[in-house]
Amino acid sequence: MISKAHIIKRFISYVTIDTESDPNSQTTPSTEKQWDLANKLAEELKAIGMQDVNIDENAYIMATLPSNVDHDVPTIGFISHFDTSPDFTGANVNPQIIETYDGKDIILNEAENIVLSPDYFEDLLQYKGQTLITTDGTTLLGADDKAGICEIVSAMEYLIQHPEIKHGTIKVGFTPDEEIGRGAHKFDVEKFGADWAYTMDGSQIGELEYENFNAAGAVVKIKGKIVHPGYAKDKMINSMYIATEFINSLPRLETPEHTEGYQGFFHLHNIEGDVEETTLHYIIRDHDMEHFEARKEVMVKLTTELNTQYGREVIFTEIKDQYFNMREKVEPVMHIVDIAEEAMKQLDIEPLIKAIRGGTDGSQLSYMGLPCPNIFAGGHNFHGRFEYVPVESMIKATEVICKIAELVALKPIK
Ligand SMILES: [Zn+2]
Repeated sequence: MISKAHIIKRFISYVTIDTESDPNSQTTPSTEKQWDLANKLAEELKAIGMQDVNIDENAYIMATLPSNVDHDVPTIGFISHFDTSPDFTGANVNPQIIETYDGKDIILNEAENIVLSPDYFEDLLQYKGQTLITTDGTTLLGADDKAGICEIVSAMEYLIQHPEIKHGTIKVGFTPDEEIGRGAHKFDVEKFGADWAYTMDGSQIGELEYENFNAAGAVVKIKGKIVHPGYAKDKMINSMYIATEFINSLPRLETPEHTEGYQGFFHLHNIEGDVEETTLHYIIRDHDMEHFEARKEVMVKLTTELNTQYGREVIFTEIKDQYFNMREKVEPVMHIVDIAEEAMKQLDIEPLIKAIRGGTDGSQLSYMGLPCPNIFAGGHNFHGRFEYVPVESMIKATEVICKIAELVALKPIK
């Protein structure tokens, strides 16, 4: 139904525009260059026949595909982000197309000996015989989340060209700065006007997610006392040793490298320190709200204990919530997940429903009043040089969007 060549051409036209976001910038979008793709997308949405195409002063894009049925149907939305991760460069992306993948090593870059190998990335083998798009080994690809954008635009175009497919009002939303955690921040949920939406921002084909972590960040400051080492007896307090005590008092196995599934963790991701002052940066993650609160409590208790032990306030711990598990907001409207699952089944896609070990724009949007599960966009190995996407998965995702639109119009549920 949807041509491979067409999808490839559209996808490449997006990934070859650099849209890397920048966590150190305070503006929206965080980088000026995100406008390059944003403006192009707004034009393209108009060109394929979308209505009310709007791009606001922060580069958030919204557009409407009007209903083509007479009865009342819930308004649904599809959302993606057009920035790419600052973890790896997104400048001068030079996509490679591997037709009929043979299941062997893919040489991304001969000169630098960069190889995408199924020995390491076993997922590759499930795409034997398919068309893969990879990097040239020197940049990320940007399938996260330009694959999602490509799928949404292609689905809207298909629905416009095939009015025999009946659907309600469909809203499209494209955001900047998701990769730096701000994609939802300036998203105007009211203006969007959908009853619910889906982010097309998952990974492998079949993924359907409505649970994510509860998340907090902790900054632990330890104050020491610097004294000349030759005269330090009973005077010097070395903040780095106290920091080590703090670190070692947290459960060593409850860390990202030792946990999976629904297991939560403490993650120490940065230390800066000298004798006088040491700062520890942690993130705290747990799907379960009670466990999440308990983890924060562990850190507070440990701070008090060590302060008591040292007879003075040496440790100052500040914990801030970052985002919450969208499950709480999605479960009361579980039919929105059921419809996506049904759409996949009708398209012979095996739904992979699992809890995200992270957050999505959708989790924030769900708490802003727009319940928003996440659907696969098809890519793998996000945020790095080994990122790739099977074109067949992008086509399937496009079909899932069309099918959801169709099912929602068939079974009006509010
Ligand atoms: Zn993404």
